[in-house]
Amino acid sequence: MRGLIAFAALFVAVLGKETFEGHQVLRIFPKDGVQLSLIKDLEDMIEFELDFWRGVTDVSIPVDVRVPFNSLQSVKIYLEFQNIEYSIMIHDLQVMLDQEQEKMKSTAWGTEPRNTDSYDYANYHTLNEIYSFQDMLVAENPSLVSKIVIGQSYERRPLNVLKFSTGGTNRPAIWIDTGIHSREWVTQASGTWFAKKIVSDYGRDPALTAILNKMDIFLEIVTNPDGFSYTHTSNRMWRKTRKPNPGSSCVGVDPNRNWDAGFGGPGASSSPCSETYRGPSAHSESEVKAIVDFVKSHGNIKAFISIHSYSQMLLYPYGYTRTPVKDQAELHSLAKKAITDLASLYGTKYTYGSIITTIYQASGGTIDWTYNQGIKYSYTFELRDTGRYGFILPANQIIPTATETWLALMAIMDHTYKNPY
Ligand SMILES: [Zn+2]
Repeated sequence: MRGLIAFAALFVAVLGKETFEGHQVLRIFPKDGVQLSLIKDLEDMIEFELDFWRGVTDVSIPVDVRVPFNSLQSVKIYLEFQNIEYSIMIHDLQVMLDQEQEKMKSTAWGTEPRNTDSYDYANYHTLNEIYSFQDMLVAENPSLVSKIVIGQSYERRPLNVLKFSTGGTNRPAIWIDTGIHSREWVTQASGTWFAKKIVSDYGRDPALTAILNKMDIFLEIVTNPDGFSYTHTSNRMWRKTRKPNPGSSCVGVDPNRNWDAGFGGPGASSSPCSETYRGPSAHSESEVKAIVDFVKSHGNIKAFISIHSYSQMLLYPYGYTRTPVKDQAELHSLAKKAITDLASLYGTKYTYGSIITTIYQASGGTIDWTYNQGIKYSYTFELRDTGRYGFILPANQIIPTATETWLALMAIMDHTYKNPY
């Protein structure tokens, strides 16, 4: 079996992209505790090679799982035998991926943008396209934007962060990152749109102008560049980093389980083949360590916002423990304000609360660590959608997603600005 997997990996390396023909995404509805644990058992049946897009949480909260063609019949029989209700969310994943590729090619072909005004924000882009977007933005706005490199990925790509600053030294700052999970493409695309929005609104929008006259904004658009590159070249569904795991044929660590906050506890896997593998030690991933070092050496970050997809949620700490954070009341009411502002544009509904009560127990998560470092306004977003397309959100939803999310970001940034601590 192991040899077969290694052979399959070699096959992909030689012939290009992994395909997902006949893969389905099932939405499973656990109706009681017994069914919940039966669904949990599926996670351990590694021979099915299941990929949980939305993990097991609680009774009556749906679980989304990608099932490879060869496992479909067995999984469906398992569910039907146990009387567990499910529906087919995506009938053939490859059909959706082909459509996504076609859309990317349709506009990108031969039309390299010359500046950030002609950049196609309503389309998905490769790593190099985003890198050159960042350089163009800096070149066009040298007095507002600079690019800093906070480290290197495992495959030695630069970890670029855009710094938006109107002056001063070590001003109180807001951090935003997108794309730490590489397959969550709407997040890097939204991050790109946010970058352009900041330079467009500075000097025009009074709220953002006031913020930037006192504070800096740091934005890391491609937080997991190796994974992101891999989603374009080899496997669209790649989530983790790309560092090999000694003694295992499985590659990568979940960079949102690798932080030193409840590291190794429940809600992360110790198996290198799991999509939620925590890694050999806290901050073992250079993509994570670079942010840790940056946050510590900066020392004046007041809000930290880490952006994921999908599920439409706004979350605050903790994920690793049920103990409420000391600022629970304030974080909760600010989250409510943020999602209300977000919904005012297109009516997109978000749920909100602490990670452990809203989504599931997750240890070693980013914002639990940042909160424990003293960054009070620590939030995680799960952007669109609620599962119709999941990670393959059509490109025509990028700008609506980014635009509505910006309203929530502004609510958090404005509150941070008005409540210094
Ligand atoms: Zn994620």
